[in-house]
Formats: sequence, C-alpha cells, structure tokens
Amino acid sequence: MPSSRKGSPTIGIDLGTTYSCVAVWKDNQVEIITNDQGNRTTPSCVAFTDAERLIGDGAKNQIARNAANTIYIEIIDAKRLIGRRFSDVEVYDDMKLWPFNVIEGTNDNPNIVVTYNGYEQRFSAEEILSMVKTKMKEVAEAYIGDTVKDVVITVPAYFNDCQRQATKDAATIAGLNVLRMINEPTAAVIAYGVGNMSSFNRKRNVLVFDLGGGTFDVSLLTISKQGTFKVKAVAGDTHLGGEDFDNRMVTYCIEDFKRTWDLDVTGNKRAMTRLKDECEKAKRVLSYATQTSIELDSFHEGIDFSMKITRAKFEQLNMNLFKKCINHLETCLTDAKMEKSSIQEVILVGGSTRIPKVQHMLQEFFDGKELCKSINPDEVVAYGGSRSFIISGIPPAPKGVSVVEHCFEIDENGILTITAKIVSTGKTEKLSLMNLSGRLSNQEIEKMVKDAKKFKHEDNEFKRKAEAYNALDDIIYDLKKKIKRNDMPPKDLKNVENAIDDTIEWLSTGKVAAVDKIERKKDYLDFISRLAFSNVFFTLPLAGCTNGCGLRLRIY
Ligand code: AMP
Repeated sequence: MPSSRKGSPTIGIDLGTTYSCVAVWKDNQVEIITNDQGNRTTPSCVAFTDAERLIGDGAKNQIARNAANTIYIEIIDAKRLIGRRFSDVEVYDDMKLWPFNVIEGTNDNPNIVVTYNGYEQRFSAEEILSMVKTKMKEVAEAYIGDTVKDVVITVPAYFNDCQRQATKDAATIAGLNVLRMINEPTAAVIAYGVGNMSSFNRKRNVLVFDLGGGTFDVSLLTISKQGTFKVKAVAGDTHLGGEDFDNRMVTYCIEDFKRTWDLDVTGNKRAMTRLKDECEKAKRVLSYATQTSIELDSFHEGIDFSMKITRAKFEQLNMNLFKKCINHLETCLTDAKMEKSSIQEVILVGGSTRIPKVQHMLQEFFDGKELCKSINPDEVVAYGGSRSFIISGIPPAPKGVSVVEHCFEIDENGILTITAKIVSTGKTEKLSLMNLSGRLSNQEIEKMVKDAKKFKHEDNEFKRKAEAYNALDDIIYDLKKKIKRNDMPPKDLKNVENAIDDTIEWLSTGKVAAVDKIERKKDYLDFISRLAFSNVFFTLPLAGCTNGCGLRLRIY
C-alpha cells in the first residue's frame, strides 16, 4: 500500500456494485474490517426516508418499502452513470429501468432525484458514491479508533479519465485523500498473490475473470519478469452479472404464479422487490445445495407463494448468459492475440464466480486447468487513453519533418496529461484531463463537501433523537411494569400515572421535538419515578419514642 501521512493509517476501499469492502494494512498483513452489523462487506446502497438517511445494511433492508428513494450503487455505479453526461445514449437507455428519477443537472450532469425529509433533493452520482465511501471510512475509523484520511481505491481497468476523475471527486466529497487508484484486475492479482516476487522469474499471463452483481469484466494482464503489470486486453459487458441471473429466476417465478393463479404480479412493486430478494438468496443457496425453495407469505392479493427450484433449473434458465461470459472471454483472448494455452493463471473475482456452473465452464474452457488463486504480484497501473486535444498556430514545415513534440504522462491514478511543443517556435500547450469540462468544478465539489458535512450532522442529530425517544419509551415501559408490581401510596401512583399519560399524549402528537426537549421529558419521568419507587428509608426518631418509632422518610 502506498505510504500515507505519518501516523495516519491508510485504508483500501473496494467500492463494489453490490457490496463494498474496506481493508487496512495491519501487522504486516491486510485485514478486512467488519462493519457495525458484524459483516465483512456492506451493501453499496443509500436510502432517503422522511426522517433519515440510511447507508449500507439499513438502506438495503428497506428497499421493498421505499424503492423510489433507494439508490443502489449497482445501478448508478461508475460503470453506468458516474462520469457520464445526461445526454449520453447509455444513460438514456438505462434510465428507463431505474426505480428512481434522473434529470439533467448543470453542465449536462445527470442528477438523481429523491425525497428526503419531505423535500425533493438532487444528487450527482459522485455524491451518492461519496456517501458509501463515507460509510466505509466510518467502518474503518470505528475499528482503527482513529481518523482516516488516506485511501487507495480500485477502479475498472477500462475506466476513462473522466470516470476516474469522478471517482476521485467522490472520495474528496467523502473527506478522503486518494493516494492511488489501482485497476481492479491489478488489485485482484495483488490480493490473490503470495507477495513473493522471487517465486517466478519469467513473464506470466494472467486472466482475471470478474463476474459481479451488475457487470462482467474479463482482463488479460501480463506480468513481466521485473514485475511490471500490463493490461493486454479487456472485454466484458456492463449489463451482465448476478442481477441478471436473479431476474431470470424472478421471471420464472412470475410465470409459475400466473399459471397457477391466473394473476399478473408485475404491477405490484412491493411483491416484485420481495420476490427479487428471495430469488437472490435462493441463487446463493444453489451455489452449495442442489435444490432450494422460494417462500413468500401473502405474496400477491393475499396469496402465498411457494416454489422449489433446483440447481439444474437455475443453470438452464441462465445458460445463455453463462455462455455470453465465455464468448467475452474468447474476445479478450483474441484481442490480446493470445492462445488460451498461454494463460498461466486464471483468477476469479466477484460474487457471481461462486456459481458452480460458471466455475465449471471456465475450467472446461481452459481444458481442466485449476482456477488458481495465488500469484506473485507487483503493482503498476497500465492504463491510458486519449481525447478532444488541439494545438493551434503550427507553422508550415516540409512533409515528414516533425514540428511538434508530444509528451503523454499518465500518473499513478491513470489520469492523462498531454504536453505538446512546437519545436520551431517553442510554443507549448498543456492539457491535463483532471478537470474536464462538463464534470464537477472545484466550487461544486466544495459545495458537495459542505453538504456531506451537513448530511452527516443531520444523521447524527437523527441518531441522538432516536436514542432519546427510545430511552423515553423504555422508561415509560419500565414505569408501567413497576406500577403493576408495586403497591405504592395512591398519591404517588396518581403522580406517576399522570406523568406517564402526559408523556404518551405528547409523543402521540407525533411532533418532531428537539433532542433536548425529549431528554428533559425523560429526566422528569426519571425524577417522578425515583420519587415514587425509592425504597430507601430512614427513620427520624421523634422525641418520646423509645421503641424505634419515628418519622419515616424516603431518600431519593
Ligand atoms: P460483487 O459485485 O462482486 O459484490 O458480487 C455481487 C453478486 O454476487 C451479487 O449478484 C450476488 O448475488 C452474487 N453472489 C454472492 N454470493 C454468491 C453465491 N454464493 N452464489 C452465487 N452468487 C453470489
């Protein structure tokens, strides 16, 4: 991992289309960090509700109720929306499939529209990505017990400079400093490697087969004797992945339900979301079991849904998609002008490569080769691109005489800078593709950084408020229980009951009170309760009492 500022730990974030993962370099090894739910991966999902913003598991768990305001990175992922313009034909085609609204923002940037806290809010793809990155940063900070600033981020090898810049912007909005961006296949090779360069001393060809939730990428890398990585070819499909396999199963279930009940469920959004969720779970089960069932109580119009599905059926439903993957693999080899027999290592990346049929077909394609998961890596990003660069005022010169010197520089993040010099005049033009027109300006990023802080503050306030409400609720529940058990004087009983009734009535008005007010209510109930239920007494002896009698006082 590249070195960070002194004392500050560097984290690595893999912002996946479906799940994200964060790791830290600790005790000379990479440690994957578990989130607040105890999971090693966090759903790449952001949701906006009437009261709060949810990121990760919380967002995913409420999709069925709030699809229009739930943004999965799987959909807006860099591969689909980030770094693209609203007028791009791909955006237009994809938009029709999204449950949320996308409109044209400034500079032809696509804006996602959601309802948050009762108001319409617009977010760029970079802002949504930054929210997931912020969550991953917090997961890391909770584990490390320190603030995190520096990060290494992975991006698909075929990302253009615009998409890379947008990925960087998202990190800046999340308050992170990108030390380096690594191509995903390169990172995969590094991750699977045994870290010992001396274990091979010849050129190696490595195929990275990455089948995730929404996209399929196959990359062919060569690693030189010196450990230099070179991406020879990339192929794939930005609309092929686990989600498509789920959808095939969903369609199969819908048809089954229609056949049995003569009812079309496709218009029932909630039922469709629940079904999709169950199909995804069933798909995972079929990676280790040969059959499973999909059960949904009160699925549609009060009717339950239940269906058995075998692994063989799942494979049959998806066979042409699996074959597509193999076709892309062939394209990649053809583009790299390489025979499959020249591939030394085949590395599997992405959750969908757990599907046994995918592994089987891949292994068969490579004539029974073991799908190896161990390779000695080094790290050099080899990615380049060129764009829309004009240098004017070139003086006439004889044919074949070079008059312009070009220098193409690609930094470690894969961002291209072109310098051109007219030799005779010395005139120089420089174009850095860091700030492409049409992307976020510095002012826009600054505003988004401020907004991100504001949203964070609102999240914290909401959390405090929820905790205060819960504490108040707890105390009411506790008091009621105590009243049942306790035989207290009628006056005390009346006091407590009145205080409880007042509080319940206040809560039932549904007014969003300030945290301080909720806490004051709680303190008051607490006080009343201590007054009524304190069992610590002492007796003040009265003059003339000889047998221990006196004035019995309760201590609060
Ligand atoms: P990724 O984008 O790499 O996080 O991959 C996510 C995709 O992998 C989702 O579509 C998951 O449903 C899928 N996936 C995860 N685990 C399994 C599994 N055991 N079998 C089949 N698909 C899986």
